[in-house]
Amino acid sequence: MSDPRFSGIGMTSARTRDRLVQRLREQGITNLAVLERIRQVPRHIFVDEALASRAYEDTALPIGFGQTISQPYIVARMTEALLEGGPLTRVLEIGTGCGYQTAVLAPLVERVNTVERIEGLQRRAKERLRELQIRNVRFRLGDGAQGWKTQAPFDGVLASAAPLTIPETLIGQLAIGGRLVMPVGPEGAQQLVRLIRREQGIERRVLGVVAFVPFVAGVSRESERSTP
Ligand code: SAH
Repeated sequence: MSDPRFSGIGMTSARTRDRLVQRLREQGITNLAVLERIRQVPRHIFVDEALASRAYEDTALPIGFGQTISQPYIVARMTEALLEGGPLTRVLEIGTGCGYQTAVLAPLVERVNTVERIEGLQRRAKERLRELQIRNVRFRLGDGAQGWKTQAPFDGVLASAAPLTIPETLIGQLAIGGRLVMPVGPEGAQQLVRLIRREQGIERRVLGVVAFVPFVAGVSRESERSTP
């Protein structure tokens, strides 16, 4: 990456990113490929310039349209949980948002099919991923509750918005042996869960307590009303 915007200076420099990776290790992230992606992906280009100096803090930040870029720890944890169990060829991601999670994940799998319901966010995510020369991503504007029928089955499904219950459609689009990682539950009481679809049924494990934006039905083409 030769673009100076990507390498960053000061609070967006390589040393700042190394410190973030060190913190994630201390918090229990062990997958080295995931940690390396967190070190490489310039998170500061996914947030407003005014917030760039805070891009490597381990916190969620506003990205407009009332949405947030996920906390790096959560992105690392979810990516690690999705990869656990073997390589993935076909992944469905719900909630592209600014595209940061997509950028971390895409080079670690064969293809990501990513769905977002807010057009303005999807447009920006496409631009960022193009700038980073990440090419194995297919974008769709739509309601993630429908999954992506023509691309199914998936051996991995990952969502970064929380429905009250996991949509049956998504479980139906999982291949046998496929893994689904997503937050579920009402605001203030969400859990991150990992499902594996087995021949005999669904295996379910709770990974922890989390706080995500809600899963919302339908598509939004409105432009941004207020800046964060
Ligand atoms: N993955 C993003 C996180 C974005 S926040 C990141 O790396 O930062 C969650 C995103 O999920 C928001 O952009 C929101 O618009 C989107 N979302 C919520 N409900 C959705 C649905 N039903 N279908 C598709 N996207 C949805």
